[in-house]
Parts: sequence; structure tokens; C-alpha cells
Amino acid sequence: MTEELFREDSYLRECDATVTAVVDNAVSLDRTIFYPLGGGQPGDTGALSWDDGQARVVDTRYGDGGAILHVLEEGAAAPAEGTVVNCTLDWDRRYRHMRMHTAMHLLGSVLQYGVTGGNISAEKSRLDFDMEDTVDKEAVGEALARLVVEDHAVSCRWITEEELDAQPELVRTMSVQPPRGKGSVRLLEIEGVDLQPCGGTHLKSTGEVGAVRIGKVEKKGRRNRRVNIHLDD
Ligand SMILES: [Zn+2]
Repeated sequence: MTEELFREDSYLRECDATVTAVVDNAVSLDRTIFYPLGGGQPGDTGALSWDDGQARVVDTRYGDGGAILHVLEEGAAAPAEGTVVNCTLDWDRRYRHMRMHTAMHLLGSVLQYGVTGGNISAEKSRLDFDMEDTVDKEAVGEALARLVVEDHAVSCRWITEEELDAQPELVRTMSVQPPRGKGSVRLLEIEGVDLQPCGGTHLKSTGEVGAVRIGKVEKKGRRNRRVNIHLDD
């Protein structure tokens, strides 16, 4: 099982770790700053370097038993088990994911409908809402911009599964239930705006989202509106 340093501090750009296994071109480590694909957020990319080598990490995914696999570029020589490696993130890409991800929470708080799907990338992101109404793009855009300017604090805390069961209204996403079986669930709180289970990487305050623009609103069925957002900078 890989210790998930990004859960407690999403701003870590670098760490040292020890290789615990190598399978094909994927390296698992005892701890990592690399976020693995999940919850609509892409796996991180970056680099591993060690005494006599280095390799690009082109994707990060969960393996078996809670191990996090750092997928090396094709043809790269992998470090041997037991090697201490230095991990560095492609920070610009990850930071855009954090801005997008946090903006998604804001969008979900502006449009109070069930969320049936979503996807984040550095270029554009989308949320699918269980709604029949038309989306007033201008009003939604203004509400988002206001939440950014208000600079709400963002924080995480853990609750037990029993506490979550007692507050089912915390789970707004209809398609994605929080992962169970670990005994506790991670809650993401945007002060005064949003509170829901989430395991992704977020900003520390909404002001860092910066300029965000509502893109296309697509009708994906009678009760499904897909809202796209872009970062303007
Ligand atoms: Zn989140």
C-alpha cells in the first residue's frame, strides 16, 4: 500500500520515496505525491530520478491492494526494488487540475442538481447534471466568478462511514459513491459553499481558481445537461 502524501498536502511538488515493486514499466513506491486516475481526475505525470538514472512518469494509476503505480514512458529503464527515488510532478498540469477540480465543486454548488458524471482535464472540464431546465450560462458564470472573488477557504477532514450514513444528503453525485471499506471517508469542505465526500486534489482557497468561463452546455438526453468549463489565462 502506498502512502498518499497528496491527500494531506496537494501542494507537494517533490518527495523522496522507496521503490517497493516494479512490474513491466510500472513502479510502485512506499509513498507518493502522484495522484492516481480516479474520480474524474487524470493521473499525474512527472519524473522519477535516482543515483544513476531517471525516467518520465506518463501516467499514475491504482494497482492491487492500494499500491499506486507510476507508469514510465515506453522503453525507460526502471529503478530496482529498494532504490530511493526523487519524485517531481509536472506541476503546471497538476495545478490546473486542482483549479479545475475546485471549480467543479463551485459549479456543483451553483447548480443544485444531482451530478451524474464528470471529467477533469487541464484544458477543459465538464459536469453532467440530472436536470431538465435550461442553464442560464451568464448567471452561472457570474455566480462562479463571485465564489472565486469571495475566496472561500477549502479544507479536508475525515468522518466515519457511520457518520456518512447518517447524513446521506452529503453525497450529491449519483454515479460516484465515495469508496467504502476503509472505515472512514474524506470530506471536502468549501467554507459556506460545499461539503461532500471527495478524494481529489483541491486548492486551499477558491481565489486561486482564477478566471473561469462557462463553455458549451450540451443536452445529452431529456434529463441530462453537460456543462463545460474552461480556465481563462
Ligand atoms: Zn473534489
